[in-house]
Amino acid sequence: MERMYFDNAATTRLSRRALAAMLPFMEGEQGNPSSLHSYAREARKALEQARTKIAGCLGAEAEEIVFTSGGSEGNNYLLRGAVAANHAKGRHVITSAVEHPSVLNTLYGLERQGSIELTVLPVDGYGRVSVVDVFAAMRPDTILISVMMANNEVGTLQPISSIGALCREQGILFHVDAVQAAGHIPVDMHALHADLLTISAHKFHGPRGMGAAYVKKGMAIFPLLTGGEQEKHRRAGTENVAGAVGMAEALLEQTEGMEEERLRIEALSTQLIDGILSTVPGCQLTGHRLERLPGIVSFLFDDVSADELLALLDMQGIAASAGSACTAGSNEPSHVLKAMGLLNGGRRAPLRLSLSRYTTNAEIEKVLSILPEVIHRLRR
Ligand SMILES: *Cc1c(COP(=O)(O)O)cnc(C)c1O
Repeated sequence: MERMYFDNAATTRLSRRALAAMLPFMEGEQGNPSSLHSYAREARKALEQARTKIAGCLGAEAEEIVFTSGGSEGNNYLLRGAVAANHAKGRHVITSAVEHPSVLNTLYGLERQGSIELTVLPVDGYGRVSVVDVFAAMRPDTILISVMMANNEVGTLQPISSIGALCREQGILFHVDAVQAAGHIPVDMHALHADLLTISAHKFHGPRGMGAAYVKKGMAIFPLLTGGEQEKHRRAGTENVAGAVGMAEALLEQTEGMEEERLRIEALSTQLIDGILSTVPGCQLTGHRLERLPGIVSFLFDDVSADELLALLDMQGIAASAGSACTAGSNEPSHVLKAMGLLNGGRRAPLRLSLSRYTTNAEIEKVLSILPEVIHRLRR
């Protein structure tokens, strides 16, 4: 049976170009970038070239990029590091109810241990934070605001540049989890007014276990991992040169083809939305219809069990997800859909279909022919 991958918000296929760029740094003798011989110099050069490329794609400077093991580490590093470094200024932090668990659970943990006071902003029915709410929540002792650029479960975009401008004006640090956005829509530090920002390679066809944190120049934040002097004392540990090279190549590839792919993927996902809403009764689109990532669409189906829906789709060759991969199997209802006010009453199954540059027209047609029948069968 032909299989179709519609779970790109969970992780994406490694691009051939990224793999090809990585291979020379994975086989044969490799130097530790901190050593002093020619092998080390080659590794160091590749690492710094990757840093420059990534910075270029994000409107940042090379020295503002710190390599990490991915989005979760990036969010932990930036949030914990900023809170610790600004202890004297205040301890109030603002975030939204729809953040990724690597943001929410980190901040809840800091709140539990008494390091911060936390305000969690509500969202509207589309999952959007209101800039007015952000403004109203600000206090004289607010040190940090963390809002994601695009939601991983429903794809909704947040008004990041407005929130960023407000933070800048008030002298409050602004952290953006751009893990779902980077490589898919333009992410520019200056336009966003971000001080701290997180990306992860495996969400844009780079290698898993590799990411980057942007730390605005002049910003002193505490490291999460201490030890050696790597990454200018910002992250100890021998660098993942191949990972950095692969991430840079994948981000460059995505950035080069971004506008064209964005339009193509948006057309495919709009076709999915229109097709599903018009052929499946008892179905609702979750997330914003227009203010969303091109590649994520999500729905709620009345009177269907989420596990059965995913299992039946999988049997038909469609790999999808109920929301985030992190909470799959936990049976906890999605904190995102809950915050959007969508889980009040009734048995409703969430379904997220996430597309990529590898998704074809034929695959969309296939989903549109299979899904209505699957829902019908489950309801019988
Ligand atoms: C996937 C994801 C993360 C975590 O990234 P990892 O590299 O998997 O640790 C963080 N935030 C968002 C919005 C994500 O989608």
